[in-house]
Amino acid sequence: MQELLMLAASYLRGLFMNCRRCGKPLPNNSVACKFCGMLMGQDQLNFQRRMQENEEKRIQLLSEKYGVDTTPEYRNKKENKLLGAIFIGIILLILIIITIIVNVMN
Ligand SMILES: [Zn+2]
Repeated sequence: MQELLMLAASYLRGLFMNCRRCGKPLPNNSVACKFCGMLMGQDQLNFQRRMQENEEKRIQLLSEKYGVDTTPEYRNKKENKLLGAIFIGIILLILIIITIIVNVMN
């Protein structure tokens, strides 16, 4: 579950973090395209920051609850599964919104 979540998150990030001018994939922490120099949009930067904050919050939460050593047991906790389901739901929602936006722009 946790792995799937990470995969979905990184896929979404990769999908979103493409240059608006040349369409090349960009690193998650980049501000401008390294291929053509196009600056990233404010919404893309906001998205980056939000993803980073979510990740930090999640890591903090996990380390507070289970100690710095993240043992495999925490994956079986019910609340984590619920949290993961909610997160996946949010990701899917964002994905749908992005798809709609891209369709409208084309
Ligand atoms: Zn570019």
